[in-house]
Parts: sequence; C-alpha cells; structure tokens
Amino acid sequence: APAGKQDAKIEGAIQIAIGVKKEVDFPTWYTNVLIKADMLDYYNVSGCYILRPWSYSIWEIIQEWFNGHIKEMGVQNSYFPMFVSSKVLEREKDHVEGFSPEVAWVTRAGTSDLEEPIAIRPTSETVMYPYYAKWIQSHRDLPLKLNQWNSVVRWEFKNPQPFLRTREFLWQEGHTAHLTKPEADKEVLEILDLYRRVYEELLAVPVIPGVKSEKEKFAGGLYTTTVEGFVPTTGRGIQGATSHCLGQNFSRPEMFNIVVEDPNDTTGQGKTYVWQNSWGLSTRTIGVMVMIHGDNQGLVLPPRVASIQVVVVPCGITAKSTDEQRKAVNDAADELAHKLKKAGLRARADLREGYTPGFKFNDWEQKGVPLRLEVGPADIAKKQTLSARRDTGAKVPLPLTDIETAVPALLDQIQADMFKRAQEVYFSRLHEVHEWKDVVPTLDDKNVVVIPWCEAEACEDDIKTRSANESEPTDERAPSAGAKSLCIPFDQSRWPKIEPGVTKCVGCGKDAKRWTLFGRSY
Ligand code: AMP
Ligand code: ZN
Repeated sequence: APAGKQDAKIEGAIQIAIGVKKEVDFPTWYTNVLIKADMLDYYNVSGCYILRPWSYSIWEIIQEWFNGHIKEMGVQNSYFPMFVSSKVLEREKDHVEGFSPEVAWVTRAGTSDLEEPIAIRPTSETVMYPYYAKWIQSHRDLPLKLNQWNSVVRWEFKNPQPFLRTREFLWQEGHTAHLTKPEADKEVLEILDLYRRVYEELLAVPVIPGVKSEKEKFAGGLYTTTVEGFVPTTGRGIQGATSHCLGQNFSRPEMFNIVVEDPNDTTGQGKTYVWQNSWGLSTRTIGVMVMIHGDNQGLVLPPRVASIQVVVVPCGITAKSTDEQRKAVNDAADELAHKLKKAGLRARADLREGYTPGFKFNDWEQKGVPLRLEVGPADIAKKQTLSARRDTGAKVPLPLTDIETAVPALLDQIQADMFKRAQEVYFSRLHEVHEWKDVVPTLDDKNVVVIPWCEAEACEDDIKTRSANESEPTDERAPSAGAKSLCIPFDQSRWPKIEPGVTKCVGCGKDAKRWTLFGRSY
C-alpha cells in the first residue's frame, strides 16, 4: 500500500512521527519520510515518481552550484532531443549491449505504427556524437564541452526505489571531446571532484572516490571513475555519480568518426581521433541524503540544501492572551525572519493561525528544517530567541543583538557536524579484511569490506556468488544479491602497502593489485 495510506492507519494507534522506525522497517520508513516531508508523491506508472517542490528545490541548489563550477571549466549547457533512431543507438556494440535491456521504445503514433521504432535516450552518447563529428572539423574546434540537464529513461526491472532507482530520472550529462588523452584524464578527475563536493559539501554525505573494475565500468567506455556512498542502516554501498573516460571508442572511424588533423604531426598527414569523456549526476543524490540523515522524526536537511534553513515560530500565546500580546509576538517573529533573510539566509516565520506551536514544531521537524527559532513574550523581554537544532535537538538561547552572525555560524556548525558524524559512521563500517572467511560475516554485520584484490573479472564473479548469503533477510525493496566491487579507492594509503608478489587476493589467492571496496549495494 502507498505509504500515505498505510501510515494514516498506524498513526491512530501509535504516536511515532514517521509511523515506523528507521531501524525496524527501513524501506517503509524511507517512503514515509519522503511522503510526510512533501518531497515525493507516487505516480500511476510503476517506477516513476513526482518530485514535489520540497525535493525539487534541493535539485535546483545542486544545479546552481554545479553549473557555476562547470561553466568556469568552459562547459556550456545545451539541449538534444530525447529520441534516438535504432540505427544510431546500435552503432556502438558494447554500449548498446549494456543498455538494450532497459531501453524504452516508441512504436506507435496515434493509431499508426511507426515505420521504425524510435528509442528514448537511456543516456545521450549516441544522440550527440554524430553532431560532434559534424562540428569538430579541426583541432581548433577542440575541446568541445557540452552539458545538458534533462531526464533519461531506463526501464529498470530491479525494484524501483524513489530517487535511487527510477525509470525516468533527472540528471546532468556532460560530454566532452579533447585532442589528447592527458587532457581528457585530467577533466575526468576534475568532474569527479565536483561530484565529491556535491555530496560532501552540499549534502553532508561522505563518499569514497575511486575507479570501477572492468566489470562495473560504463558500457563502451575506457574507464569509469566514481564516488561511492554508504547507507549505514542497511549496510549497502551506493554509487553516487560517475565520470567516464570513453577513450577513442566512440570517435573511431567505424563508430562516429570524430577526427581532426594532428597538429603535432610534422608531416601534416597524421589524424587523431578525439578523446571523449561523459559524466553524470542524478537525483539519486537526494535519496542518499535522506537515507543517511533522516531519523524517526522525519527528514533532516543539511543547511546548504534546505529551501528553508531557519523557521521562526511564535510561542507563548494562550487563549487568555490579548490581541496586542498576540500581535507583539507575531511581529517579533516576522521581524526576526526578515532580518535573517536580509542577512542572506533562507528564513521563514510560521505565522499560520489556528495551529499550536507544538504542531508547527512537528511539521517543520518532519520536513527537516535545520534550525527552529522560538519567539515568546519572555524571549522578547530578554531580547533573545530560543534556538533548536534539528540534527541534535540541542536548544540554546541566542541574543538578538548579533543574530545575523550567530545564526549563519550555527548553520555552518550543523552542516559540519552532520558531515563529520556521517563520515565517522562510514569509516567505522568500512572493514579491512585479510581472509576470505571474514568477508561474509563482515558483510552480514552491515559493513562494506576493503580487501587486497587481483582485479580479475572471474574473481569478481566468484566473490559475488560466494557472498550471496541465503540467510541474509530478503527485503522486497532492496535487492539482496552478493557483493560486487564498488570501487578501487584512489587513496590507497589508508591501508597497508600491497607487496607485489607477496600480498594475495582475498578472493582467489592470486597476486593482489590494489585494495578494493566490495559490498552489497543498491
Ligand atoms: P551511468 O550513466 O550509468 O554511469 O549513470 C550515471 C549516474 O546516474 C550513476 O552514477 C547513478 O548515480 C545515477 N543513476 C543511474 N541509474 C539511475 C536510476 N535508475 N535512477 C536514478 N539515478 C540513476
Ligand atoms: Zn582474485
């Protein structure tokens, strides 16, 4: 049953804000939080959801931040059609093999069948690159750096999860073409670092940057870099965002033939097929943030992405209060909110009539507003306001005299504390494992493991089979498969040095290459 209906029943019986506890029934908790916070609604096409303003505003903040940074790198926004002809889609073999099971097709217009079915983009490499071939005629046309903010459709058959895995999702996809591999390599990492910062600095979600295994890399690409997150309640990894180097796979003559004369070839005869990257960040970001920070009162928003950072609630008015007393408190609350807005904060006074302060507290707590300021007659007399943090519940009176600096400082503190707590949890649940016998028990305890690994595909398949624990409780909304490689972290220095020829792979016993993160995942 949809969470909305389900918890209306539960609410009558027990007084838990969110209906069920995060630790007890995580999938129901998650959807209840989204519904109760007005982030999301269900839709009558399976796997598709409505993003309401309370969540879309987070996406807008991410967009604004990310646009600023990529424009500084010389990337321009543009828009390409959502339709792809089957001929073009099928041009790159590995690419189409990777995506074909999930491609949605338009076969009919009105009552007449189309002569040829038309695909809806699952990603836009094949949509854009024929035009890259047309627009890139000379090395002077390089680099070409375009991005689009759009939606793509992947008809996933794994259980859908709001934000994390949906059939249509919003994202940005950047596509760039370069003259040389070093230039392309450099950009891959620059973009990945922006993704890390979206998670860590905006959403207060810690991630581990690294490179994907051959098995997990993007279909048709050369290599894939990723930022990997972790959901502590389920012990599962989650791919945060990916930045791919496509190499020359799409520019080759048999593919899209994106070629320029090589300016470094003195004979003037040489040609270079361009080096390409593609990179994407989706609305999955929002779901990961909810899963990590939400609690049994509902959503908890990091201040940097909250569309309301501070709510001011008038308090201390009773049935016996006079109209003047009521007006004085409302005016003080309104004035405080105005002052904070002037100071550049997203503040709102909740002056709704007919609701108790207790109701309002609950309402904004469910919606995750980072900071509440209470204003009552006693506060006004003392020239102060009582602050209440959403993340810790801590209540501290703040003098009104320097409120324009005290509140931003407190919001910064909340942001930093939320990140720090989440990071401590992630690292405490990332276990260094040296022997196979410890892998499955460690995963069963809701951890991810980091192991010395040989990087062979057969070994990865084997690890997946052997870690698909039958006793692991199956949850209909979270795929309970075996462990896969999440990433090979760039920062290997956290773990003991791998001795070539000495350190063995925990999966197969052959020589290990690098420490690799393995886990059950979304
Ligand atoms: P990809 O093009 O497969 O590398 O995907 C780019 C990013 O989009 C991934 O890193 C995911 O974070 C995200 N993503 C992939 N599939 C979905 C989906 N079905 N729903 C939401 N986000 C997705
Ligand atoms: Zn191995």
